[in-house]
Amino acid sequence: MTFRKNYDIAVCGGGIAGVSAAVAAARRGCRTVLIEKTLQPGGLATNGLVLVYLPLCDGRGNQLLFGLPEELMRLANKYGPCRLDENWREKNERMQVNFSPASCVLALDEVLEDAGVDVWLDTVITGVKMENRRLKAVEVFNKSGFGAIEAKCFVDSTGDADVAFLAGNACRNSANAMVLWALEHRGEPGKDDIPQDEYAAGAIPVAGSISAAMRADPLKKLFSDEPLSGQLVTRFALEGRRRYRRDLARLGAKKTSRFPVALPGQVPLRRTRAIAGRMTVTDEDEGKSLPKAITRLGDWRGRGRVWEIPYPALLPDNVEGLLAAGRCISALGSAWEAVRVIPVAAKTGEVSGIAAALSVRRNLTPGALPFPLLAKELQAITPPEALPRACKEI
Ligand SMILES: Cc1cc2nc3c(=O)[nH]c(=O)nc-3n(C[C@H](O)[C@H](O)[C@H](O)COP(=O)(O)OP(=O)(O)OC[C@H]3O[C@@H](n4cnc5c(N)ncnc54)[C@H](O)[C@@H]3O)c2cc1C
Repeated sequence: MTFRKNYDIAVCGGGIAGVSAAVAAARRGCRTVLIEKTLQPGGLATNGLVLVYLPLCDGRGNQLLFGLPEELMRLANKYGPCRLDENWREKNERMQVNFSPASCVLALDEVLEDAGVDVWLDTVITGVKMENRRLKAVEVFNKSGFGAIEAKCFVDSTGDADVAFLAGNACRNSANAMVLWALEHRGEPGKDDIPQDEYAAGAIPVAGSISAAMRADPLKKLFSDEPLSGQLVTRFALEGRRRYRRDLARLGAKKTSRFPVALPGQVPLRRTRAIAGRMTVTDEDEGKSLPKAITRLGDWRGRGRVWEIPYPALLPDNVEGLLAAGRCISALGSAWEAVRVIPVAAKTGEVSGIAAALSVRRNLTPGALPFPLLAKELQAITPPEALPRACKEI
């Protein structure tokens, strides 16, 4: 090891969940590090070029997600170009907004800096150090060489449950459909488009020459249901680009007005590897009040569909000193689809940061944290009508 550092809380992976976790923990006075293998925070939301911040509401006019999910939603457009339509209720729309991934990176840098988070970019987590079942340190590699980061509590926000996996916790994998993902210049919007039935597009309305349009290929064919591996990631990325090349070649002379501007720097796999937790959100839980629930959330796929996430879904079932946040929490099937999106990743990130801070303050592991302590903190940042029953009944 060429270096060794020590923190109260180490947040592993700087996607939306990791940023949220690190900010929540640092704002509560903890010495917090955020370890991110790329150069930019935001994960799929920025490096993955996802540009739709899905809804904070239930589709029936009720906002369910407050705190950092809303703060980050508004910050995502601090440097342009979109704006949340504050009349979403009156217009019977959902509380969601598009954003430019690059603007979002700038805003996330700023919120991390303001909160006092120690950010380590270009630093990849390569291993773990355990004492029995307790996580004591993560091993990392960056331009300084190999090092160890010790902490009293860790958050796994790698999106793929890398830390829990390396620590030997059981993990689950999911099947994925092929997606081609790119930001394109479209000189004359509409005119040069490949037929819309083939490509679902989320567009950022940008004035000027780059009318950045997200291009997804909903081939909906299952690409693979094999467990996450280095080979799968490579094959998925190369196959997506191969199909994109094929389709761009069909444009012929139009390529002067329509061409790719940016390609994702993170593989666009939606559901990869998640922890097996002390509780798991499953399809049967839709619409139910769950014990130890930390949040309610509206389903982006349909109005009026509401879910809750119980705190133990953030706790790996066999590792102490570690919380999961974001798309790698313990969820299955349709429930996983509902909880893996940006606003919910921001919420589970925020809750994991709060729980980590409370645990560190009391010298407890997150698994031993009394739920009423967490519920009290959540009461302070959530209006009563949006709180899950479990947080009210303490
Ligand atoms: C094609 C596609 C389209 C989507 N569309 C939408 C949409 O329109 N709206 C929406 O709200 N959601 C959408 N989603 C889902 C959403 O973008 C993600 O699920 C969400 O952003 C996940 O956030 P996260 O922080 O949990 O994980 P991630 O964004 O995956 O972040 C994980 C971070 O950890 C880092 N990391 C990973 N491993 C290591 C390691 N070993 N060491 C150090 N760092 C590491 C990564 O670099 C990354 O920055 C989409 C997802 C995909 C794939």
